Amino acid sequence: MEASANEIARLGAAIAAANRIVVFTGAGISTECGIPDFRSPGGLWTRYKPIEFAEYLASAETRLEAWRRYFKLYDELKDAKPGRGHRIIAELVGAGKASHVITQNIDDLHLKSGVPAELILELHGNGTYALCLTCGRRHELDWARAEIDLRAQAPACTRCGGIVKTATISFGQPMPEAIMARAHAATEAADLFLAIGSSLTVYPAATLPMLAKRWGARLAIINKEATDFDDLADFVIHWDAGDALARAIPRGRPNHLHQKSSRGS
Ligand code: NAD
Repeated sequence: MEASANEIARLGAAIAAANRIVVFTGAGISTECGIPDFRSPGGLWTRYKPIEFAEYLASAETRLEAWRRYFKLYDELKDAKPGRGHRIIAELVGAGKASHVITQNIDDLHLKSGVPAELILELHGNGTYALCLTCGRRHELDWARAEIDLRAQAPACTRCGGIVKTATISFGQPMPEAIMARAHAATEAADLFLAIGSSLTVYPAATLPMLAKRWGARLAIINKEATDFDDLADFVIHWDAGDALARAIPRGRPNHLHQKSSRGS
């Protein structure tokens, strides 16, 4: 379904008027890059029940299964390139309009699109490497895959023998506190909170749009399907994220992006 020109124009005007946009992304921004989301038809949840953190810790067999599943996803995301949405968000950051990109995604595409690492807050970690849960040593995924191929068991840390896991946050795993604190601070300072491609059903990440409203930002939601937060939002666009952003923020219109600096000088 195509969003109305009026809705898109309203969102475009709100983006042009904002000075401290916080962009919040979910799996829907990366579907056009060939990475499936969780909940759409054919999405990952229709294929697998997620493995909880406690199950991962408890059983070597479960860890091996988790790695085997992860490599199927990783093969879909490792060569993915940023899409239109990622590129437009990177332009908003580059123009000083957006202060941070808070993402639930683990695919590294915001970094690949050129957003500086220090402005990306990965709430659910990063799926392009692994960490030892005991000593924190970083391990590369090619090494983990080779270990699994060689031993038919989940890899153990080369330094301390601890459990190694992708650097992602599983259900039931504690959230990264420092990142969450920075996400709260960015949200508190935002004048426009732009939630893109998220079902807004995964907590505590999904509290951020609500907090943004409470702390005084306008809230915009771009998602293919309705979310529980639509009633709270100032702008709701049920459409493809890349199409919606490309229409709301036409490229080649730097004045649109640079309104802040021209007004502020
Ligand atoms: P989700 O799967 O719960 O929701 C994605 C939403 O995006 C859905 O509501 C869907 O309708 C919408 N969508 C799909 N394609 C779209 C498009 N082209 N344009 C606009 N909307 C579109 O994902 P979530 O809210 O991010 O939360 C699920 C969890 O899944 C997160 O914790 C995340 O870590 C993880 N995940 C990440 C990736 C990734 O890194 N790319 C992929 C799958 C799952």
